[in-house]
Amino acid sequence: MGALVEVDGIHVRYGDLVALRDVSLSVAEGEVVCIIGPNGAGKSTALTAIAGGVAPYAGDIRVGGVSVLGLRPEQVARLGLSLVPEGRHIFGTLTVEENLRIGGYIQGDRAAAKADMERLLALFPRLAERLRYPAGRLSGGEQQMLAVARAVMTRPRLLLVDEPSLGLAPRIIDQIYEILLDLRQRAALTLLINEQSSNRILKHADRIYVLRGGRVQLEGPAADLRDGEAIRHAYFGFG
Ligand code: ATP
Repeated sequence: MGALVEVDGIHVRYGDLVALRDVSLSVAEGEVVCIIGPNGAGKSTALTAIAGGVAPYAGDIRVGGVSVLGLRPEQVARLGLSLVPEGRHIFGTLTVEENLRIGGYIQGDRAAAKADMERLLALFPRLAERLRYPAGRLSGGEQQMLAVARAVMTRPRLLLVDEPSLGLAPRIIDQIYEILLDLRQRAALTLLINEQSSNRILKHADRIYVLRGGRVQLEGPAADLRDGEAIRHAYFGFG
């Protein structure tokens, strides 16, 4: 069986700027894979390309064996993928419940959406307590949880999460990872997560890719990279 995500030698540019050069990566069903790298390394571009938001000018991307090249983001979403973008993009003036309903609406089946929402709220007690709050009044960590919960309401088999830790306190980051890993079990999710730092991710991910300057500098099982030395070399480019 092939991988759920196969990125095969993609090149992406924005005008004259080449953001990704010959990037290949794969994610097997049920895996937690993390892309780490400094600011501007191309991490967001990689997730956006997989989700159909930006087209590579060379290479191929397959999700569940289907090439996403030429598909619009909503067509790629129908292959079972949901993206939690950096900065969360929740609807601040809508309530928490309304934000979640939007995820369920995309899914289409009302009864199933209601059951999903009940199950999710059991996982996110902070959101359950704040269902009628405008989402814009939630804390940063709660907004990140809402963005994840809303993405899961579309019943993806693959969740792409762009920098879930950004701007959050360490305790909240741990909570978000606990929830993501719990979802992986309960909702049979496959996870591809971008992070700037490897500190936490090494204990949660199965495999790591280090991206710098638009290229994959290092890849391997997280368990083999725990001492951090190889990652530091790949990340900073010395040695
Ligand atoms: P960050 O942690 O800052 O999000 P990143 O690793 O996700 O970094 P990208 O956002 O993918 O990196 O950016 C890769 C390069 O492409 C950067 O040089 C960035 O300035 C550039 N870039 C990203 N998006 C665009 C765009 N829409 N138009 C032009 N250039 C872009």
